[in-house]
Amino acid sequence: MNPLCPLCSCDTHHLFSRDARRCYRRCFTCKTVFVPPQYFLSSDDERARYDLHTNAPDESGYRTFLRRMLMPMHKRIASGGAGLDFGSGPGPTLCLMFEDLGYRMHIYDCFYADDARVWERSYDFITATEVVEHLHQPYRELLRLWRCLKPDGYLGIMTSRYDDIEDFSSWHYKLDPTHVIFFSMESFLWLSQRWQADLEVIDRDIVILHKRVND
Ligand SMILES: [Zn+2]
Repeated sequence: MNPLCPLCSCDTHHLFSRDARRCYRRCFTCKTVFVPPQYFLSSDDERARYDLHTNAPDESGYRTFLRRMLMPMHKRIASGGAGLDFGSGPGPTLCLMFEDLGYRMHIYDCFYADDARVWERSYDFITATEVVEHLHQPYRELLRLWRCLKPDGYLGIMTSRYDDIEDFSSWHYKLDPTHVIFFSMESFLWLSQRWQADLEVIDRDIVILHKRVND
């Protein structure tokens, strides 16, 4: 069966690239590149790979990396605001950095912090740092985040965009077998139009979507 684009649900896409392990299809509508579901790792295999991630709160290099998401959000949101870090991973760190700046933080991670109560709240901001590329159902997950965001709230997403690189076939980002979706600038434009959101491009791998007050 022909899979649907996991972002826009379009059924027209073409073979974009192939390597020894997987193939990659590109949606004609939203220009997202995705790996078809038959190549997804099992949940156990996926978890085993995430357990190897060694990033921890005391690593200064990791904190420097996360500041690229922290600071643009801090500029937009008043201290004291409520935030959710989605996909907080095995060593939640970004939430601690936000707390140091006076924000009230919640975390969610389907493997490490699977607390469904976070979906009963609403937030002034939500961050997803190096997580959306892992999502098997990205639109469903992103919509869940968007619905938890208050009007005038911000959703910050960090993921490498494939249209920013020279050559997809040699791109290191696609070598991780848990990476199954690769966004382009047009993917985010599609999303911002779908939600009537304001899109800001912060860096080659960071965008921020703003929820309009009249939503
Ligand atoms: Zn699409």
